[in-house]
Amino acid sequence: MIKKLGEYVEKKNVAERNKLLFSIATNATIFNDEILNFLVNKNFALKVSIDGNKEVNDRNWVSTTGYNVHDKILENLRYIQMFEERTGRYVQVTNVITQNNYKDYFETLVYLTKVLVFKMIDTAIDLTVSWTEEQIQILEQEIKKSFVYFIDQAKAQNGFYWEFARGFSKKKIQESKNFNSIQNKECKKCEIAAYCVESSCIMQNIAVTGDKNKPAPIFCRLRKLMSEIYQEHKAIIKCIKM
Ligand code: SF4
Repeated sequence: MIKKLGEYVEKKNVAERNKLLFSIATNATIFNDEILNFLVNKNFALKVSIDGNKEVNDRNWVSTTGYNVHDKILENLRYIQMFEERTGRYVQVTNVITQNNYKDYFETLVYLTKVLVFKMIDTAIDLTVSWTEEQIQILEQEIKKSFVYFIDQAKAQNGFYWEFARGFSKKKIQESKNFNSIQNKECKKCEIAAYCVESSCIMQNIAVTGDKNKPAPIFCRLRKLMSEIYQEHKAIIKCIKM
């Protein structure tokens, strides 16, 4: 299917002559030499979903045909490593914070970066559920603990890219805000409003809160935490080179 889609796009592009960039997100349970060669040759960007160690990952990832999802990913880890070696690009790993794994976030980050040695960690959060204040506070503690680990790893020349320490570019964020229309009193007086993307996505607001003017509370809190972490440690974050 992916091959056919790629061929179709390339054929359509013969006349257009656009620069094509393919990317794919996978849970990496199906991988082999042929797939690896295809992804490398077509210059794909590769994103792999892993939620954590075997116990954490398989709380939410269950195979319908009987195999263990985490074990299968580990079996295919060599292909992911070969992809990085051959393309010279890091594979981006996405882990999703859910209500049955948020208390393990710190351990998950350590597992993904220390045990599996991934260098790009992109963390997403389950927005299909309501997060309580207590859960958010626990998650904040997990993220703060993770930040200490992130800095320690960077100091030990073993740094990695991590969503929560990517810094802020006011210019770039402003560019992506091509409208200014949400009406939210809290956002208007918020100190980091100029740096915050959460307030500007109408589609996301509607999907999560049902109100185009109301950003998802969990995103709002995490954005504030990211800002706090960045402000407190910006000197050191700016020194970190990947
Ligand atoms: S951090 Fe929260 S209150 Fe502040 S601008 Fe973003 S969404 Fe609004």
